Amino acid sequence: MTQIFAAPGRYIQGYQELERLYQHIAWFGQRFLVITTQGRLDSLRQTLALSFDNPELNLRYAVFEGEVTRAEVQRLFLLQQDQGCDGVIGVGGGKVLDAAKAVAARARLPLCIVPTVVSNDAPTSALSVFYHADGSYEDVLFHARSPDVVVVDTQVIAQAPVRLLVAGIGDALATYYEARTCVQGYRDNFLGLGSAQGGGKATLTSMAIAELCHRVLREDAVQAVRACEQNVVTKALNRVIEANALMSGIGFESNGVATAHAVYSGFSELGERASAYHGEYVAFGTLVMLLLEGAPAAELDDLLHLCLAVGLPVCLADLALGDISAEELHRVAEVAASPQQTSRVEPFEVTIREMLAALRAANDLGEFYKKGGSVLVTSDDQRPASAISKG
Ligand SMILES: [Zn+2]
Repeated sequence: MTQIFAAPGRYIQGYQELERLYQHIAWFGQRFLVITTQGRLDSLRQTLALSFDNPELNLRYAVFEGEVTRAEVQRLFLLQQDQGCDGVIGVGGGKVLDAAKAVAARARLPLCIVPTVVSNDAPTSALSVFYHADGSYEDVLFHARSPDVVVVDTQVIAQAPVRLLVAGIGDALATYYEARTCVQGYRDNFLGLGSAQGGGKATLTSMAIAELCHRVLREDAVQAVRACEQNVVTKALNRVIEANALMSGIGFESNGVATAHAVYSGFSELGERASAYHGEYVAFGTLVMLLLEGAPAAELDDLLHLCLAVGLPVCLADLALGDISAEELHRVAEVAASPQQTSRVEPFEVTIREMLAALRAANDLGEFYKKGGSVLVTSDDQRPASAISKG
């Protein structure tokens, strides 16, 4: 058995940390290719000018054109070659970061990742998800090295739309449950020889990180969401940013994922009908997974309360799919239960029938909780005296 653990070379998180970027990556060299979006370009130029001695000389900017395609990575790679850069900096959301990772890997250059949202697990992982030009999924490219430096500016995160933080909490919430399934079953993580040849096995360290991720979210997620709504950085928001960006990133990559992510893939199959964020599907997928696994009522209750408290979807209507047809739901189940999907790591065969049942049961339970229902039965002696005497 080969155990493998991955993490970024250095993880830096701080208030207005972007203004100190240069000191974290000075060792890369003299010239840096900054890959970002058009919308962020001007403000980024201003911020980065604060820490680089000679921004005109040090920094070359490339605008990411919106989709992580082979052609786009090739275009950015050639740009980097023309400019003779010593390192790559990706600043933005998941897609920008995935493109920057692929460019740095291709060019064999050191890489700095600066997430501007913590809505998914892109920042710390050593993989890029590729799409076709029409936006449909192509495949995943596994890189040999994790990002060298990850810099999270908490002020930037606190100013991003709160729904993105919540989506990240959804992605991070799945981490512990999926890790548990993978670790108990000695399943492969995302590291090692690439997906085709299989990954490594988890370490005690990566499982402990997944557990801590769960604990932090239970303790701090509600406060963090409220802080983000006010655009302020508090200790609780700080901890949740670390959970979303670092713990969830290491937790999924070094332990593996299971049915929650397979359910996400099922919903993405609906094309334009799938309008929610990755982490929102993953949160609902976690509920589906726990039902599929026959998890204890207390665990379901816990998950549902947390999702409702932070505004994560607990039913199909919350995913803007209240009108989903029987055929569409069947298609979701079919994809989620297919052997190509990560539901294959469950310790039993996942059939389409069982997946469909879990999807329907999850939707029903979510609606039930929204009306104040609970799966926990209160015993007689815990009920108020008046309720008992009325018989
Ligand atoms: Zn994810």
